[in-house]
Amino acid sequence: MNRITPALERLVAELGKLPSVGPKTAFRQALYILETDAEIADGLALAVREARSKVKRCKLCYNYTEEERCSICADQSREQGTICVVSGIGNLYAIERSGEYNGLYHVLEGNISPLEGRGPSNIRLDELVSRLRGEETVKEVILATNPTVEGDATAMYVREQIKSLGLSLKVSRIAYGLPVGGDIDYVDDLTLSRALSSRLEM
Ligand SMILES: [Zn+2]
Repeated sequence: MNRITPALERLVAELGKLPSVGPKTAFRQALYILETDAEIADGLALAVREARSKVKRCKLCYNYTEEERCSICADQSREQGTICVVSGIGNLYAIERSGEYNGLYHVLEGNISPLEGRGPSNIRLDELVSRLRGEETVKEVILATNPTVEGDATAMYVREQIKSLGLSLKVSRIAYGLPVGGDIDYVDDLTLSRALSSRLEM
């Protein structure tokens, strides 16, 4: 049996801890790192260190930033009266890519999940509530948690919390849609039933 060296074995093991990287991919990547130019390998190592040391959470919305406030919170041209609540940073970036939204965010740390031991206090909901209490400029909260059982439960909980604050805030939930260019024949039942129930008046 071909034994690989301890250092190479460790590199494969570390790469294999990354999401969507299986053992074969990890091995290929490790070989690439060994065989490529030294600058590329060093650049990768440096980028990992730098990202870990410089990138932190925005004090207001918990987006990533290298300053106190993220570039979205610091941008005065964005609508200060709307906060979009998402379950994670990835969802924030997806909404930004759509170019459809020009307000602010609040990034939760996942969804409420009793099975995984995550309650409202574990996912930065308290921070959202105290933010809403302190900011009278906010007029609408859009709940953009995922359309899953947990995402729905989180959205319901946030809505109840906001209602209990007694603020005159509009609370909305993103509509569940059919994929653009798709054929209704091929859409799963749940998506179709949700698309029907979240229909808009024309
Ligand atoms: Zn921010």
